[in-house]
Amino acid sequence: MPAELIDGKAIAAAIRAEVAVAVAALRARGVVPGLTVVLVGDDPASATYVGAKEKASREVGMAGTTIRLPASTAQGELLALVDRLNADPAVHGILVQMPLPAHLDPDVVIRRIDPAKDVDGFHPVNVGKLLIGHTDGFVSCTPAGVLELLRRSGVALRGAEAVVIGRSNIVGKPMAALLVQPGIDATVTVCHSRSRDLAAHVRRADILIAAVGRAEMVTGDMLKPGAVVIDVGMNSVSDPSHPRGRRLCGDVHFPSAVAVASRITPVPGGVGPMTIAMLLGNTVRAAEWAAPAGGVA
Ligand code: NDP
Repeated sequence: MPAELIDGKAIAAAIRAEVAVAVAALRARGVVPGLTVVLVGDDPASATYVGAKEKASREVGMAGTTIRLPASTAQGELLALVDRLNADPAVHGILVQMPLPAHLDPDVVIRRIDPAKDVDGFHPVNVGKLLIGHTDGFVSCTPAGVLELLRRSGVALRGAEAVVIGRSNIVGKPMAALLVQPGIDATVTVCHSRSRDLAAHVRRADILIAAVGRAEMVTGDMLKPGAVVIDVGMNSVSDPSHPRGRRLCGDVHFPSAVAVASRITPVPGGVGPMTIAMLLGNTVRAAEWAAPAGGVA
């Protein structure tokens, strides 16, 4: 029997609806959650992501703003903007779209964002809170979205063998940190480009999370029968049969994996929609924390 699809679009829509309810409650108290996205330069993929974030934030009733800066922006100018946004009470969430032009240092910029407004969850304070298990920080949106997909699909996590392929700071590492937390209780293996015998690790996985950026590298024959497969990868590959000559695919070879897995996310329509939904969730939480009910708004 082919694997059941985990419908990221539907789960993301449910989360957005929940966020909209929370936004309405805040607005009733005179608080309009505000998300400001900063885009430096004119990378077309980044421009698309930023546009989607602004649109999504407005759809749930937030004040969504994008500040576009030229690629030539100096580091000092960008930091001065971050300082202004940090000080602006109408801005609850700040997101500086990555990657930045090469002359700008992303680590310096991320560290400048007030951790209480760092809705991307990239600031070292928030990364540290995740690792310690403190829940008053922000978790990077993509791994948070993956966990939410697993939870809302009823996947058993306690004691499960979870294998994460990829150790980036935005996906692989925070994913592993989330899964190993007490209360979630997976047994986690993290693989990377230096891992010996990737296939042997993958074969042990009850839950496989692929966040590599290599098109269709995980094939069905590598999987444990009945595994739950979450494909974070977003790769554009050439495909003459496709109208645009290219198609989007994941890090998992879907046609072979779907025959072996018990549940699997499609690409597109799996993890992708969750990332923005979790960003909205983080922003509404930032606004709630900034203006607690019964507190000073
Ligand atoms: P990075 O390039 O930052 O990290 C990729 C990781 O994969 C690295 O840790 C690298 O190892 C590892 N890797 C590379 N080759 C191999 C290999 N042959 N075997 C095992 N591990 C390998 O990517 P990201 O984490 O930023 O993104 C991963 C994928 O997820 C990309 O396709 C990206 O587009 C997608 N993505 C999707 C999002 C969504 O919303 N759906 C959001 C974010 C990312 P090493 O550290 O040793 O180099």
